[in-house]
Amino acid sequence: MFVDQAKIKIKAGDGGDGAVSFHREKYVAAGGPDGGDGGRGGDVIFQVDDNFSTLIDFRYKRKYVAERGQNGSGRNCTGKSAPPLIIKVPRGTVIRDAASGRIMADMSTDEPKVLAKGGGGGKGNVHFATSTRQIPRFAKPGYPGEEFEVTLELKLLADVGLVGFPNVGKSTLISVVSAAKPKIANYHFTTLTPVLGVVSTGEEKSFVMADIPGLIEGAGDGVGLGHEFLRHVERCRLIVHVVDVSGVEGRDPKEDFAVINTELAKFNEELAERPQIVAANKCDMATEEQIAEFRSFIEGQGIPFFCISAATTQGTRELVMKIAEVLETLPPIREFEPDPIPQAELDDMAGAGKKFEITEEDGVYYVEAPWIQPIMRTVNPDDYSSLQYFQRVLINSGIIAKLEEMGIQEGDTVSLEGFEFDFIN
Ligand code: GDP
Ligand code: MG
Repeated sequence: MFVDQAKIKIKAGDGGDGAVSFHREKYVAAGGPDGGDGGRGGDVIFQVDDNFSTLIDFRYKRKYVAERGQNGSGRNCTGKSAPPLIIKVPRGTVIRDAASGRIMADMSTDEPKVLAKGGGGGKGNVHFATSTRQIPRFAKPGYPGEEFEVTLELKLLADVGLVGFPNVGKSTLISVVSAAKPKIANYHFTTLTPVLGVVSTGEEKSFVMADIPGLIEGAGDGVGLGHEFLRHVERCRLIVHVVDVSGVEGRDPKEDFAVINTELAKFNEELAERPQIVAANKCDMATEEQIAEFRSFIEGQGIPFFCISAATTQGTRELVMKIAEVLETLPPIREFEPDPIPQAELDDMAGAGKKFEITEEDGVYYVEAPWIQPIMRTVNPDDYSSLQYFQRVLINSGIIAKLEEMGIQEGDTVSLEGFEFDFIN
């Protein structure tokens, strides 16, 4: 079964707790604190694996939880950090936050992406001894790992998408120009899975073609099967519109051409703008007049026109060479950029009333405010407005005021959730 959409829950591991422990040794009366820190929780990482071509596994397993970090222990032992949980997905999987719909990652390249960060370990009591508090009987719990519900959507990576009514010969075409072997039969909807084929056009030159299963009228509104597959056309750089010019099925090629284009536009306006080449198929069955009439109709709109017979391969080489030539002039396959976390969501996170705790040790101000972690991940230190935003968060939440109240001086070190910087006012 071809499954190209799924919704799953991911949760990174929580950090281990810090330990409360005191040094014990024979003949040493009162040892100092030696409780170590908890280990980091495991991240949830996504990685492309070309052995997978559908999202079917995610229909059966819907919850992915990374391990928790180990707790700290005595003798200053830091707990072991948990390994990441690696989730393998087919190439072209777009991951969105289910709640907001924002794109979190496009798994198009081999680069692994961390989607949920493990929580940091809590500090052990060894950190909390001061001259006035020599026996700290407390430690900090680990921080929670990030947690999201995400949707996975496979959007195939192909240079060229074949679109057209069922039975016009798309599968036959891809099977003669590439090594792909889709099912071919003289009935509608034989193709239920998009099929990718590599078309070679010379030494070390090739492009990827996708056979997109038959579109029918109403596909753009979700009628029939077509809509399911239109998402796979979204990334194609070029559309090859296959039309049965012979009209053997009693249809009119001009009308077919218009209907499919309307469906593409309904699905996504951008698709209607995508460059097209028309492949008038079944030329072996068509009359000269039929071909001439359709040719002038298409060429009249400034669209390249090729008369082919997929069955006899007549004209397919010329079509392939033209496709390669047009592709040279087009931008590369589209990759989706992650959407920034919406301002409203950030403002909410940054809103007043958020809890934080500040402790001062030897001139270093330790700020604990786990809610700020996702915000910190979005801050770009090289971007002025981004830094300004971060500054606003620190002000809004009252962290700055509290630091000042505690007597922080220019140049003192602030350690915010493990990130250290100098205080500048
Ligand atoms: P698809 O639904 O668009 O993928 O169409 P298929 O490739 O499965 O082809 C549908 C039918 O049309 C099959 O019976 C093919 O053999 C036939 N067909 C495909 N191309 C040609 C062609 O160029 N000429 C003729 N005469 N028949 C063709
Ligand atoms: Mg087919």
